[in-house]
Amino acid sequence: MQQDELIKKAKQYLANTYTRFPIVITKGEGCWLWDLNGHRYLDFLSGIAVCSLGHAHPNVVEALTIQAKKLFHVSNLFYMEPQTKAAEMLIEHSFGDKVFFCNSGAEANEAAIKLARRYSWKKYGEGRSTIITMESSFHGRTIATLSATGQPKFREGFAPVLDGFIHVPFNDIKALEKSIDKETCAVMIELIQAEGGVYVADKEYVRKLRDITRDKDVLLMIDEVQTGMGRTGTFFAYEQYGIEPDVMCLAKALGNGFPVGAIIAKDAVMEAFEPGTHASTFGGNPLAASAVIATINTLIDEDVIKNCAETGKYLYKGLMALKKKFPFITDIRGMGLIWGIEVTANGDEIVKEFLKEGVILNCLKGKILRLVPPLVVKKEEIDIFLEMASRIFERVKV
Ligand SMILES: *Cc1c(COP(=O)(O)O)cnc(C)c1O
Repeated sequence: MQQDELIKKAKQYLANTYTRFPIVITKGEGCWLWDLNGHRYLDFLSGIAVCSLGHAHPNVVEALTIQAKKLFHVSNLFYMEPQTKAAEMLIEHSFGDKVFFCNSGAEANEAAIKLARRYSWKKYGEGRSTIITMESSFHGRTIATLSATGQPKFREGFAPVLDGFIHVPFNDIKALEKSIDKETCAVMIELIQAEGGVYVADKEYVRKLRDITRDKDVLLMIDEVQTGMGRTGTFFAYEQYGIEPDVMCLAKALGNGFPVGAIIAKDAVMEAFEPGTHASTFGGNPLAASAVIATINTLIDEDVIKNCAETGKYLYKGLMALKKKFPFITDIRGMGLIWGIEVTANGDEIVKEFLKEGVILNCLKGKILRLVPPLVVKKEEIDIFLEMASRIFERVKV
């Protein structure tokens, strides 16, 4: 089928919830994608920070193939080897004691919201259920995670959303302190607000936030759906801050593209979940768990996180050089291999130019170019990007 024909059909049959790139992707390998016409693209989006090991990584392909021949699914009414192994590996590499598996980022955050309320209810009784989240945060599209999300535009037309969420300015410790009261059970935060525009939490702020929440037994829940699994140059972003959360939410890169999410917590917190309190039919099924195991093994065996930290620094240097050259670039923000380039030009138009030249990236809020390449990206591939960016930026009208 021709590309245009397929796009027409997709528009006919699919709900119109996305503004899509006008190409049909048919295959991928490493940091590269191919469309239906055989054009090749350098992928600096990774399926929205998902395919961190690149596309079609042989380890993940093999793990899924072997598992698919054995067992897809039995439900959580049974014990399963891959699920137990995946949980053990996540615990080995994180602050936590226990894992709850689900299928997406929104579901992970839903689980965290329920866990926080339940933990507080068991310990303190009714009336201590408010969760503080940040302005310009993003926590998902379900009604509860939409209520948590600090961007009113996403809630438009979906009222009533849930009570019990307070949004405060990001990186403002005074505002946070003021908003905590006897009804607060948790603070939910991204250490890098990714969808919101790549805003990075200050170290001092996060340390104070940890102290305050610990003092008041208010759970600190870090949404690492986008920053987890090596993206910032450490296994989890919280490690960059020298703190540990009470609850962490994961999804995106957890299965390198196989849909899977998780929350991780200490025993004292996860104990609030007992049989019958929370569940997911698919959560952590053998296929998903085998993807998690292969992903973690590969992150470690192939030194992927170290590569992320190194190539991340290299990319940052290149971006700073571009900023010096092009005054319409007003800010470069990020860490590891998640970067935002803020521009005063039309960001969506710039993305189109990149696509024409064979590089995929996306734009947030019309003015922040977001770079989240696979963590296995090579210096030579970063050079291709930087060289192309330099050429495209020459043509940008401000
Ligand atoms: C993508 C994202 C989510 C939502 O994940 P879904 O899998 O799309 O439900 C939640 N939080 C953060 C920080 C995200 O980046």
